[in-house]
Amino acid sequence: MDLGLKDQVIIVTGGSKGIGEGVCRCLAQEQAIPVIVGRSPDEGGLLVEQFKSQGINASYIFAELADLKDCEAAVKQTAAEYGRINGLVNNAGANDSVGLEKGSPEAFQQSMQSNLYHYYYMAQLCLPWLKKFKGSIVNISSKTALTGQGGTSAYAAAKGAQLALTREWAVELLKYQIRVNAVVPAEVMTPLYQKWLSGFSNPDQKLASITKNIPLGNRMTTKEEMASAVAYLLSNQASHITGQFLFVDGGYVHLDRALAGTEL
Ligand code: NAP
Repeated sequence: MDLGLKDQVIIVTGGSKGIGEGVCRCLAQEQAIPVIVGRSPDEGGLLVEQFKSQGINASYIFAELADLKDCEAAVKQTAAEYGRINGLVNNAGANDSVGLEKGSPEAFQQSMQSNLYHYYYMAQLCLPWLKKFKGSIVNISSKTALTGQGGTSAYAAAKGAQLALTREWAVELLKYQIRVNAVVPAEVMTPLYQKWLSGFSNPDQKLASITKNIPLGNRMTTKEEMASAVAYLLSNQASHITGQFLFVDGGYVHLDRALAGTEL
């Protein structure tokens, strides 16, 4: 499907790996210009090389997003290179297990810095450009914002705040015709997820215990499935959709009670 994203410059934070990489690949297929902003230069550089070898324009910009100066430099560089920013995908983050019982105020603050604040920094820095081009923002949140997980207070708080900001910005930016939406994943196989699984004594068994609870197909969501939802929300095909939370999770968050007591 042609989403009409050709030549649109879209910043994707954490676009070198996982869901962000999937989003960049999908945008490249749509002939948009993905700008990867993140701290994985090897993977990011390789992805951009691949796109360029296929005749698709793209950029990688190094940034530790917890650092406001890096965010400022990344947006400045994108604007200088392309003269426009049409979309922002706030995606970078990591479930870092800073809990209530096992955690500390310092670790909580650090995690918020790494998971939440750059969603605000990047949106504010991109705003003049999004206003100019009636751009769009997609925030990647997590099911933990709604379901909790246990042992990950800061991450859950950051993910919940991202949903609140989605609604808040959707209202504030109505006057500029800037749409703001969130995509909410539950279980997507990515490098981050693999790393988390490898911490269990039997990762295969752990994975099987998770997928059996995913109603649609008892399988993980793919990063391509995540990416097409993000690309759709960025595009004009979603021109009257704003302030929405789109759950791309095989029914994980909403179908549990309907299925209680039935065989999956
Ligand atoms: P991933 O495989 O680790 O990819 C994320 C990318 O973002 C990595 O390149 C990572 O760099 C980068 N990144 C993270 N924090 C950063 C920071 N502060 N500054 C710069 N770069 C940063 O993760 P993913 O699974 O694709 O997750 C992407 C988003 O989806 C996250 O917001 C996550 O919370 C959300 N999510 C994922 C799942 C899932 O099942 N995978 C479920 C719910 C929500 P490094 O590799 O150097 O850390």
